[in-house]
Amino acid sequence: MILKAHNTVLTKEDLIGHAEVNLIQEAAYHYDVEFLKTCTIYTSDEPCAMCASAIYWAGIKRLVFGLSKQRFYQEFGKHNPDWTFELSSIDVLSKVAERMSQKIVAARRAQ
Ligand SMILES: [Zn+2]
Repeated sequence: MILKAHNTVLTKEDLIGHAEVNLIQEAAYHYDVEFLKTCTIYTSDEPCAMCASAIYWAGIKRLVFGLSKQRFYQEFGKHNPDWTFELSSIDVLSKVAERMSQKIVAARRAQ
């Protein structure tokens, strides 16, 4: 493990201070893009859509999480009314990757 981070939404009143975003910002400060492409990010539960997108845009090679969103809600309930954004990180990463690969192909054809 080279870095670890935690959620700072409440402690720093940072609305996007999820642990994954904080970790990616720290990693981007310390390491270059090529190194990030070799990294794996481990999270206790499935990242939200914002964090999944950040993982993609940072170029991080692999995501490993413990609890899926569905399992998290089964185990801990769905007490927070803000937990209504149901898009899974798997959906985000697969759709973004598909869209980006189409853009790359389109750009290559235009050259
Ligand atoms: Zn998040």
